[in-house]
Amino acid sequence: MQADVPSLFARAAQVAADYRLRAGDVPVQPSTGRVELDKAFGGSLPRHPTSAAKVLERLVAAAEPGLVATVGPRFFGFVIGGASPAASAADLLAVGWDQCAFNEVLSPAAAAAERAAGAWLKELLHLPASASTGFVTGAQGANTVGLAIGRNKVLADAGWDVARDGLAGAPRVRVVASEERHATIDRAVQLLGLGAVSIESVATDANGAIDVDALRQVLDQGAGGPTIVCLQLGNVNTGACDDLRAAVPFAHERGAWVHVDGAFGLWAAASATYAHLVEGVELADSWGTDAHKWLNVPYDCGLAFCADPALHAATLSYRAPYLTGSGATSDFVLGDLTPESSRRARGFAVWAALQELGGSGVADLVERSCALARRMADRLAAGGAEIVNDVVLNQILVGVGDDEETDSAISRIQREGTCWVGGTTWRGRRLIRVSVSNATTTEHDIDVSAAAILRAARGTSVD
Ligand SMILES: *Cc1c(COP(=O)(O)O)cnc(C)c1O
Repeated sequence: MQADVPSLFARAAQVAADYRLRAGDVPVQPSTGRVELDKAFGGSLPRHPTSAAKVLERLVAAAEPGLVATVGPRFFGFVIGGASPAASAADLLAVGWDQCAFNEVLSPAAAAAERAAGAWLKELLHLPASASTGFVTGAQGANTVGLAIGRNKVLADAGWDVARDGLAGAPRVRVVASEERHATIDRAVQLLGLGAVSIESVATDANGAIDVDALRQVLDQGAGGPTIVCLQLGNVNTGACDDLRAAVPFAHERGAWVHVDGAFGLWAAASATYAHLVEGVELADSWGTDAHKWLNVPYDCGLAFCADPALHAATLSYRAPYLTGSGATSDFVLGDLTPESSRRARGFAVWAALQELGGSGVADLVERSCALARRMADRLAAGGAEIVNDVVLNQILVGVGDDEETDSAISRIQREGTCWVGGTTWRGRRLIRVSVSNATTTEHDIDVSAAAILRAARGTSVD
């Protein structure tokens, strides 16, 4: 069965584009439930082939009722971002070209896009030009990579070769991190065999940034030995950024490896107005961030940077006889910088997003998101809600009553569909959590969303 590829691809692109145009008008949360969706997708294993055109139409019919308009301007849950036109189109091409970004031989173009985008990113994000860049799935992947390199390095400094000898019998590694670290740090620590017990939590200040004096105390009073310090740009609840200028040199004096989880906060570096939040970032040893959040690149795309490219590659690379002569260059192959071997050519979309926006466009995106977050906070406060955090970046924590009232307000907001916000528990209290990180969000979106949130908080939204 010969598919008509040009019309098939054109149809897929048309469906995606139509959805984009509607994403600002449809209810953010779909009304179709799991039962209907399972019915639409389910049934028995197809026994015979179906034409590609028919498959596509069936997929569209089954999926569209269950899509969440995260790409639209009024999805404020998690930290989602949007998907810029050029980056989305570039990702369509990455899939259409079906390039495998494992090494230079498999895709010289993908390798060149990643080199160029990596260089641009390091300049934009104030990271050392000599750092290596791995294009991973997200900040979870990037944090895992950074901590893996750190683990191998601090154990090597203690005379232990993890790659050869494993962790059994190794000196214990301390992982010192904020009590308000992102949960992906905990998962990375567990995946890397360090164990949850190795984490020593450090107190935070009023807005959730690490307390540097407390960090000093933990480092000085602890057992010593191989140590990784994990700092954060962008507390997932409050947006607070750790004081890297104060914390990193201190950690280095004690021989620690310093990893920075900058999933979204690192993008503050791109704006002259917000760059003070990341001051000292260039001093760290490894960094993780997301392109699929604030850069508005489609899912999935994260970035793992390391100040020591040789160590980065030594931690993740593998060699196999079949690779000899099939991509080994004097340089690292791309697969030496990520835990995956085969993967999509993510560099095309990042390169496209950075070209589309330019440095000033990324700065503008950051500044606009923060100004819109401020506007949301002001509107909500004027309507009687309590703004619980210091809105330093793009994150807002909103109090609208006790825990039960808050959770029922959140579900009313989600069902009503004007916007989507999630909840969180911060310092023992249930709160509405709002994150602004989509380039298409306007002041009008903020105003109608604030009104919807206030209506729901008063229990007056139409369910
Ligand atoms: C979102 C986020 C992560 C995890 O990122 P993924 O892209 O979901 O893997 C890690 N840290 C922080 C601070 C985040 O906001």
